[in-house]
Amino acid sequence: MAGEPQADCLFCKIVAGEVPATIVRETETTVAFRDINPQAPTHILVIPKVHYANALELAAAEPAIAGDVLREAGVVAAAEKVDTTGYRIVFNTGPGAGQTVFHAHAHLLGGRDLQRLV
Ligand code: C5P
Repeated sequence: MAGEPQADCLFCKIVAGEVPATIVRETETTVAFRDINPQAPTHILVIPKVHYANALELAAAEPAIAGDVLREAGVVAAAEKVDTTGYRIVFNTGPGAGQTVFHAHAHLLGGRDLQRLV
């Protein structure tokens, strides 16, 4: 069923505590943990506990939780003190954009100069 945990999903397993992760914050609807392969001094993933393949599917089905993910990214940015210099929130969507884990997630990147993408 939509939103239910998927047996073959790595991030559902992190939510369930079945795969280890360095969790920095957890709320009723979200988990934030350090990316295992950081691309910046601060590189944290914020994920919804419910399973949707990407951010847009999450936003369509559970707009309040999509808002929670975005809000949490801001809370973590402040906790990591990257909010003063600036940070980037990225939602890779689809394999062509580099998405490799098909459970919605926001990348929070900061702590270094980030080149302009657009
Ligand atoms: O956007 P994309 O799907 O590529 O992002 C998945 C991210 O999940 C990668 O940055 C990868 O390093 C991270 N990851 C992780 N912990 C794992 C497996 C993947 O932080 N156990």
